[in-house]
Amino acid sequence: MNFLSLIEAKREGKTLAPQQIQEFIRGFTAGKIPDYQMAAMLMAIYFRGLDTGETTALTLAMRDSGDVLEFPKDKRPLVDKHSTGGIGDKVSLPLAPLLACLGFRVPMISGRGLGITGGTLDKLDSIPGFKTLLPAKQVVAQVQKVGCVICGQTDNMVPADKQIYALRDASGTVPSIPLITASILSKKLAEGLDALILDVKFGNAAFMQTKADARRLARAMVALGNECGVNTRAILTDMNTPLGRTAGNWLEVKESVACLEIGRADSPVSWAAQQRGPTDLRQLVLDCAAHLLVQTHKSKSPAAARKLAEDCLNSGAPRKKWDEMLVAQGTDLKEFNQKLLLDSTASVVIEVKSEKSGFVSQCDARLIGEVIRDLGGGRLTKESLINRDVGVDRIAKPGERVEQSGVLCRIHAADGARAEIAAVRLVSGFAISPRRPVAARLVHEVIE
Ligand code: URA
Repeated sequence: MNFLSLIEAKREGKTLAPQQIQEFIRGFTAGKIPDYQMAAMLMAIYFRGLDTGETTALTLAMRDSGDVLEFPKDKRPLVDKHSTGGIGDKVSLPLAPLLACLGFRVPMISGRGLGITGGTLDKLDSIPGFKTLLPAKQVVAQVQKVGCVICGQTDNMVPADKQIYALRDASGTVPSIPLITASILSKKLAEGLDALILDVKFGNAAFMQTKADARRLARAMVALGNECGVNTRAILTDMNTPLGRTAGNWLEVKESVACLEIGRADSPVSWAAQQRGPTDLRQLVLDCAAHLLVQTHKSKSPAAARKLAEDCLNSGAPRKKWDEMLVAQGTDLKEFNQKLLLDSTASVVIEVKSEKSGFVSQCDARLIGEVIRDLGGGRLTKESLINRDVGVDRIAKPGERVEQSGVLCRIHAADGARAEIAAVRLVSGFAISPRRPVAARLVHEVIE
């Protein structure tokens, strides 16, 4: 293969054959194609795009660059959810045990956060003893036994994506729909799924800022997922406001437990469950579960699916399943439950107070994400060490009434000086209006 001629062909807007794409992905992962040539190809793709056939070939070649999980035959469908990421987006945590209790197998391979958006693995790393790096054999065994696992990519899963993503990051070629599609779906296809629900976010804290861009990405991923034999759907959801009332790694774990314990008087995290419960989080968790029930024909209608998911969540079984998953992945439950009882694990907690009375009309997700990153809770580079105790909780959400000096949110920080700086910034992220604003929708579209 003459890779230079393929770069030139793509530069001129020509279509590459599936075999050519397979060959250059094999060549690149084997170290036979230098980074500078691959970066040139990525830039050519960025400008010229890939058609459906090329994107499919790229996705499958990337999937096949490493191990693909293989599960024994079983009547429980294999399912997963992927989110394009946002602030306070902790849906995966309560969703995995809920799906396991609904009779699915859930091999949830997740990632770390970069920039302002959080990553599921960073949240899980705040759980005492919880292991996120598991060999493929253990992933399969745990899914078969417990029903769910949430862990990181094993060393040899989709290595082509790891290498290409690093080059995209360094060459300004991340925001390309075919490259994003291939990157996300190659990893999901390596899980051997029957069905997949994609939560594609739009808004000021999302990867895709406009609904139109989010829709284009969602359509591309849904088409490709289905073409590759995985029943795939997407929902377009608003990410202008954080999801739930907490953002920050450990605080989000606590809220996830609250979501699994809603309404239970014995909940150790009752401030979230009983005071102003994270209803948007609960809604999204139930929506994702309901879609997967319909996609796999376990439910005949969306209404029946929703009821099944809701009854299951209310039964308390997913809370027990969560504990089972934690123990299977190395957690000492006593230590975890003791940590849950703490109001904060950070050194300092301060309240951000409203300067006037009225209704919250804006709660800026992007600003909250930036503040948490600057408190040490997010990464500026892939190598940054993060503080999992910092974050923001008790966030007042749009539509809610606050009084003058009432709490808009609380800041958990490593020291007082950083907390005070964060407080000054965060006040500007909330707008207070005399009239209650029209409630913003969370889920805007479903793409099948
Ligand atoms: N997430 C991924 O895994 N890949 C991308 O390209 C973008 C977001």
